[in-house]
Amino acid sequence: MPELNLILLGPPGSGKGTQGERLQEDFRLPYYATGDILRAAVKEGTDVGKQAKEYMDRGDLVPDDVIIGVIAERLQQEEAADGFILDGFPRTVPQAEALDAKMDELRREITAAILIDVPEEEVVRRLGGRRTCEENPSHIYHVEFDPPKQEGVCDIDGAKLIVRDDDTPDVISKRLATYREKTEPLIDYYEERGILNGVNGAKTPAEVEERIHGILATLRREEEEGM
Ligand SMILES: [Zn+2]
Repeated sequence: MPELNLILLGPPGSGKGTQGERLQEDFRLPYYATGDILRAAVKEGTDVGKQAKEYMDRGDLVPDDVIIGVIAERLQQEEAADGFILDGFPRTVPQAEALDAKMDELRREITAAILIDVPEEEVVRRLGGRRTCEENPSHIYHVEFDPPKQEGVCDIDGAKLIVRDDDTPDVISKRLATYREKTEPLIDYYEERGILNGVNGAKTPAEVEERIHGILATLRREEEEGM
């Protein structure tokens, strides 16, 4: 079976994580959210995991070559033989170049970069309206899309609902500015390589999922036909 080696791109609040998890089930591909596999490698104490731990213990950013080492470890496991979904890396053009070099070494290549595109005002609306339970951060509401029965109060345990630091207007604009500056150039990078596929992320999660399915079905067909 041809490989589907995928990268998910999109601004904060684009629903990448949700789509990644759905794709994982639908296409039986492992989903590698970079933060998660980094923490897993540290926990398992693999060679690169130990390297990563040294940086994390010092509170330093884990350098790109170490992260790529962690990713490469995963890609060489049986579960990733038919492909994988990568989310959270690369975030910059130099990271994308380093990833391509590693893929070359492994004699593989990125099949597609899927951009879940959401306009900034929609990101602000989605993230800015989020309210989180003070007692249990997995109880999440949205003032517009998923309001609690009583304003400001968690339906499940009656605790107060708060705006997380990440969801304040200042932090949202900073995250968006970082995305524009560092990550948006990646869109051109993958476009130039002819593997960028854009999806309108302002639609519902089910519609976005269906659209991505269409893209992947086409890709698999093309690969099978040896195009
Ligand atoms: Zn709660």
